[in-house]
Amino acid sequence: MKSAIKSAAEQPAAHLRLVSDRAPGAAPGIKLSGVSKTYRSRDGDVPSLRPLDFTINDGEFFVVVGPSGCGKSTLLKMISGLLPPTTGQVLVDGEPVTKPHGNVGIVFQNALLLPWRNILSNVMLPIDMKRLARDKYLDRAKGLLKLVGLEGFEKKLPWQLSGGMQQRASICRALVHDPKIMLMDEPFGALDAMTRERMNVELMRIQRETGKTVLLITHSIPEAVFLADRVLVIENGEIVRDDPRAGVDAAQISKYLSV
Ligand code: ADP
Ligand code: MG
Repeated sequence: MKSAIKSAAEQPAAHLRLVSDRAPGAAPGIKLSGVSKTYRSRDGDVPSLRPLDFTINDGEFFVVVGPSGCGKSTLLKMISGLLPPTTGQVLVDGEPVTKPHGNVGIVFQNALLLPWRNILSNVMLPIDMKRLARDKYLDRAKGLLKLVGLEGFEKKLPWQLSGGMQQRASICRALVHDPKIMLMDEPFGALDAMTRERMNVELMRIQRETGKTVLLITHSIPEAVFLADRVLVIENGEIVRDDPRAGVDAAQISKYLSV
């Protein structure tokens, strides 16, 4: 497919580029050192993640897999700055994360589009919320919609689109402000199996074309194997497998999990 992405020279300005200038490399875009989380509740402390140490390189497609309740969403929230770690430090681009920051775009299990906004306005939501200049980002929003095959649907309301199309729009919304990192928390969990497979192919293409660092959370081993450059397996709040040299292999991952 001919995408909306043209050579850099054809693009109007650096901030409107869909393709990142950052070449995938060995720079650690995300670094976790001794990061743990214990939730304090009325019934006592709930240890959710034991101290974790790992890095995610720029441009990497990094997948975290593990059963329900093992701490995957907690991990994602700490990287996005939505939740402070109990111990340790998260660095994004060498900067300590202490509050929600603009370096990430987040995609959740449900598209969570605002029903009264059309698709283009939904994609533009982060720009409106950050009070950035709309006219500077409109072309980028339209380009992203074209990239995910939603050209012509800009004026439709969310209910007029299928679940898979809505989720593609939510990916555009996560990318519109050109974050360095895309964080995805079981993004296709609510979709039927066939749509889910198509979305996986689509996502892989989007990641290749935009060069973003992606951290995707799933409890599906086939999804992890299909998408990942590297798989981290978490069980009971602990890393049970993180060996990039071992490659990504379903049988190896399954050995660690009973899902
Ligand atoms: P996952 O995304 O892997 O299903 P979570 O990160 O949502 O897991 O949760 C990990 C653990 O932390 C679970 O035992 C969960 O019950 C607990 N937990 C999550 N959020 C809270 C909270 N706000 N307060 C207390 N415990 C929580
Ligand atoms: Mg979760």
